[in-house]
Amino acid sequence: MSTSELSTCSSSTLELRPKAPVRKKRIRSMVMSFTGNRPLYEEEWFHGVLPREEVVRLLKNKGDFLVRETIRNDESQIVLSVSWNGHKHFIIQTTADGHYRFEGPPFPSIKELIMHQHQSELPVTVKSGAILRRPVLRERWELSNDDVILLEKIGRGNFGDVYKAKLKSTKQDVAVKTCRMTLPEEQKRKFLQEGRILKQYDHPNIVKLIGICVQKQPIMIVMELVPGGSLLNFLRKNANTFTSKQLMGMCKDAAAGMRYLESKNCIHRDLAARNCLIDFENSVKISDFGMSREEEEYIVSDGMKQIPVKWTAPEALNFGKYTSLCDVWSYGILMWEIFSKGNTPYSGMSNSSARERIDAGYRMPAPENTPPEMYRLMLKCWSAEPESRPHFDEIYTVVEALMLRE
Ligand code: ADP
Repeated sequence: MSTSELSTCSSSTLELRPKAPVRKKRIRSMVMSFTGNRPLYEEEWFHGVLPREEVVRLLKNKGDFLVRETIRNDESQIVLSVSWNGHKHFIIQTTADGHYRFEGPPFPSIKELIMHQHQSELPVTVKSGAILRRPVLRERWELSNDDVILLEKIGRGNFGDVYKAKLKSTKQDVAVKTCRMTLPEEQKRKFLQEGRILKQYDHPNIVKLIGICVQKQPIMIVMELVPGGSLLNFLRKNANTFTSKQLMGMCKDAAAGMRYLESKNCIHRDLAARNCLIDFENSVKISDFGMSREEEEYIVSDGMKQIPVKWTAPEALNFGKYTSLCDVWSYGILMWEIFSKGNTPYSGMSNSSARERIDAGYRMPAPENTPPEMYRLMLKCWSAEPESRPHFDEIYTVVEALMLRE
């Protein structure tokens, strides 16, 4: 049996299927295949079902390699990925008697096969010439699915349910977003994008990433648990209890988080009360980075299907052009949501009529009891020209100063 090479470069989708597709049951046992005392998924160079896009990011230098699992047409396969004149992906073949091999001799376990390839310095296939030089070990973010115990469902996300959970090692309470197993690979990739963005950030007003679980399905994102849940629900449930200063404090927290994101060149693109979380001290944390982009300017090319129209700046709706100043527009809407204690913006208007009226110069009136300076700030955030809007640094300074006067 010869080895199948899946692709020759990171961006290609060239697929050479294995000549004899291996049945799911057989592969399951490959993941479980014990190497010494350890199942494959405990090897530090085994990255579970980490999507190819992430894998390619990890393989930086010539000869870097790792092993992962991929699901194709409902069949699970174990793949060796190597950085070698681009990126090469080799499916591990099984022999009739349950051994594992590439082109060379078969071995009783995947670990032994990989060790042999590494130590012998022989190419994985003659054609590829790829030699294994350095195993890429799991990053500290890559948790094992068994490291978390799911406790109760606390929300519903776009990709799957959200759970309160506990980390086995530290007993820390966490929130876990799960990704439905049935979603296509493309969606799973998008799901993990949030984890990739969040792992770089560390700020009290940005929800913290603890890790991603990709050792097996379902893939999950583990985050700090923000006990009050969504800011929108919190505002609605406790509408009669807030002082003006508390509402301003929420605006200040959100501005602090957004100022940090702007300094990191991150455009959130979906800032709204539903995507903020609130903790026990009424501190707001920006969450839901599913649409975020790390760019100074982002032009949408993949259609505007799921755009939150009532939160989105006109230049993004009309020309697909996103910058941090679009987030500033959305921040103005978030301020309005906070002071209206969770009302829906432009209520009674459809998305398209709200859009038309905004283009014609309409702006929402101030919610009852909004301090006039805060409303003035909202209106500045809703300037038709992005350049006339304040940056988050300025917004933060203004809100902080107003709070001191309260
Ligand atoms: P998605 O990005 O898939 O739309 P969300 O981020 O909107 O998912 O999460 C859905 C819901 O789950 C939120 O509205 C909130 O109630 C809950 N939730 C999400 N993350 C957390 C967290 N870190 N702590 C507490 N609750 C959370």
